[in-house]
Amino acid sequence: MTTATSPHAFWLAGRQATGEATLDVTSPWDGRHVGSISLPTASQVEEAVAAAAGVADEFAATPAHVRAAALDHVTARVRERSEEIAELISAENGKPMKWARGEVGRCVSVFRWAADEARRFNGGDAQRLDSDAGGTGRLAYTRRFPYGPVLGIAPFNFPLNLCAHKVAPAIAVGTPIILKPAPATPLSGLLIGELLAETDLPAGSWSVLPVPNDRMPELVQDERLPIISFTGSAPVGWSILDSAPRKRVTLELGGNGAAIVLGDYSSEADLDWAAQRIATFSNYQAGQSCISVQRVIADASVYDTLVPKIVTAIEALRTGDPSDPATDVGPLVSEDAAKRVESWVDEAVARGAKLLTGGKREGATYAPTVLENVAADTQIGCEEVFGPVMSLTKVDGEEEAFAAANDSKYGLQAGLFTHDIQAAFRAHRALEMGGVIVGDVPSYRADQMPYGGAKQSGVGREGVRFAMEDYTYERVMVLTGL
Ligand code: NAD
Repeated sequence: MTTATSPHAFWLAGRQATGEATLDVTSPWDGRHVGSISLPTASQVEEAVAAAAGVADEFAATPAHVRAAALDHVTARVRERSEEIAELISAENGKPMKWARGEVGRCVSVFRWAADEARRFNGGDAQRLDSDAGGTGRLAYTRRFPYGPVLGIAPFNFPLNLCAHKVAPAIAVGTPIILKPAPATPLSGLLIGELLAETDLPAGSWSVLPVPNDRMPELVQDERLPIISFTGSAPVGWSILDSAPRKRVTLELGGNGAAIVLGDYSSEADLDWAAQRIATFSNYQAGQSCISVQRVIADASVYDTLVPKIVTAIEALRTGDPSDPATDVGPLVSEDAAKRVESWVDEAVARGAKLLTGGKREGATYAPTVLENVAADTQIGCEEVFGPVMSLTKVDGEEEAFAAANDSKYGLQAGLFTHDIQAAFRAHRALEMGGVIVGDVPSYRADQMPYGGAKQSGVGREGVRFAMEDYTYERVMVLTGL
């Protein structure tokens, strides 16, 4: 990449380019300058879109082994450069190194699965139609084809892997992609461009463009980009769907993850495990994960034992410099984000919530915080906090627990601590969410499984295979006279 003194180029149709304006990227931890990036002009964005549309047929016809080889290359390069990439993520995002390393590992898996899937996708399917008289002598042959170029829009909180979620499936199915990384953390997305540039993918089949937000509506509505894959906040996501109603839009939006602890999960060892997991995953990445634990819903029979264990585990977390390998909790993405969380906690406390620990801000860092008795109509009570704050609710029995978990406009994932397999199936039926994680917190995601939300948490599913299906459609050919 270019040095920190000159702005990083972006990637326009597979080659480096610079525009007129630049954007500084600073560390949320200490405000140090991490780099500057060059921003594309309107005509450069137009050039990238035209190139993507122009190369779509050629890219779709590229043999699977060529696309898989490109994905293998990126897999190997991310693995080789993993420590340096983790440092980059940590620097621009403020994520502690232990979590940044985890993100790099997941990115390796995403590209590897995409390479595997590229090799077996598009095999085609054939079906005799003669079960019906009109189908005598006919055969339906189906094969998936891409809809056309994808606009992939990524948020700041997993700046590498959420870009990989957009790019890898597009290459796997042979459809061009324009990737738009988040303005706070563009360097990780640009680094994916650097690795793609080492491959033989057709010129024009990919671009990484840090387009400013105020110029995004034009790109969102561009008819040459029939697919939008968006990960980010609910208001922006739903506004994209409203402004491009005829496009295929996947929205991976916010949540307020619930960890439910049922009454049977009651031994010391059970509650130690639950408390440890809840404490860790309410605060990993300073709570800036769509599936971090925001709500703990515990049966009255275990509540009084569980809560002090959670508070103790939280107070043992080390908050501080993200580059220190021992740090558990780093800063939020900006001081403004931490001030917003502070004001939301203050509001909840003013409205009667009890603060069990935390509640302090220093710059962009907010202390891991536990609240009890949060009023349902406060910001903490009904919005996605996206910060290191959890609220505790005591319930009486399973039905009340599931109802409390469903009492939200969001529906991304829940964690369910129980040993009762029947209760797990009942929860799976009852919870209006994209996923239920039994025996752990909601914060588990594997990139080969379907992942996405219900209600205001989004539409569509990601996970390499599922995104590949979203980017393509089945086209049937009927052969007659056989
Ligand atoms: P954001 O909505 O502010 O930004 C997301 C992306 O959208 C950025 O690249 C931004 O530049 C772009 N954008 C902003 N305005 C736009 C517009 N008008 N048109 C098109 N694009 C626009 O979100 P954020 O603050 O970067 O990320 C945090 C949010 O992402 C949280 O709500 C979190 O829950 C969500 N998220 C969801 C998932 C998931 O898989 N469900 C994963 C990670 C993060």
